[in-house]
Amino acid sequence: MKSSSDQKVAPKKVVLVTGGSRGIGAATSLQLAKAGYAVVVNYTASQATADKLCESIALAGGTALGLQADVADEAQVLAMFAAIDAKFGRLDALVNNAGVVDMTARLDEMSVARWKRMFDINVIGSLLCAREAVKRMSTRYGQKYGGRGGAIVNLSSAAAKIGSPGQYLDYAASKGAIDTLTMGLAKEVAAEGIRVNGVRPGIIDTDIHASGGIPDRASQMAPQVPMRRAGSADEVASAIVWLLSDAASYVTGTTIDVTGGR
Ligand code: NAP
Repeated sequence: MKSSSDQKVAPKKVVLVTGGSRGIGAATSLQLAKAGYAVVVNYTASQATADKLCESIALAGGTALGLQADVADEAQVLAMFAAIDAKFGRLDALVNNAGVVDMTARLDEMSVARWKRMFDINVIGSLLCAREAVKRMSTRYGQKYGGRGGAIVNLSSAAAKIGSPGQYLDYAASKGAIDTLTMGLAKEVAAEGIRVNGVRPGIIDTDIHASGGIPDRASQMAPQVPMRRAGSADEVASAIVWLLSDAASYVTGTTIDVTGGR
């Protein structure tokens, strides 16, 4: 695991954005830095992109720390949270954003290896990061981990409601699990100072579509969206930032559609 900086920083609200290097995660990291959070930008492969993002946050007067960790790997996730403990000594918010799709296919063409990779990253990764975040946020543990309360936002997808037949219904099913995680965990920790909510993006213009083999999927699908356009990463980030903020202090267990009406 690599860290973009080893200096100790002054305490302010700290947020971890998984998959914060690109797309919706990068837009969210930038908006949260502007809102005054110290931002931990997690990534797996794109260190240069994460470093550039952290530098631009620092140049604007903010605080950012890039941390490499595969969210599907328990040892790497534990090391990432230990690095956050060492650097900041607190965690106030988590954005469970890291997620993957795979090549467009029918269910009867998919392999078990594909399903395991997708569920390991999209579902186990979110469970793992939520588990470690709850330990640090929950008032249940008193001062053992900090226990100031906090907020979590999980990235679901409109696919969870639509099912994505003929495209990637395994991805849709993984996001259905995220909706259930959001609803259940919110109830589990509501009395411990932690709010848990979700965002269900529709067709958003990011590189994720290229990784699914259809780089121009966002423009291809735009005519099917009631608003007749794809959404931007910034439009999703705005919903995430609001759900984390005190303005949403009585909101928990809900998932907001950011879909242009789809
Ligand atoms: P993206 O542009 O492909 O970016 C994905 C991010 O996740 C990257 O920062 C990537 O890191 C990181 N990542 C991937 N696997 C990881 C792993 N195992 N561990 C840690 N980080 C990992 O994706 P996006 O479009 O911004 O999507 C973000 C979230 O929104 C995902 O959960 C996605 O399912 C959801 N969503 C997106 C759309 C859409 O249309 N774009 C729609 C609905 C839901 P590297 O840079 O290191 O690869």
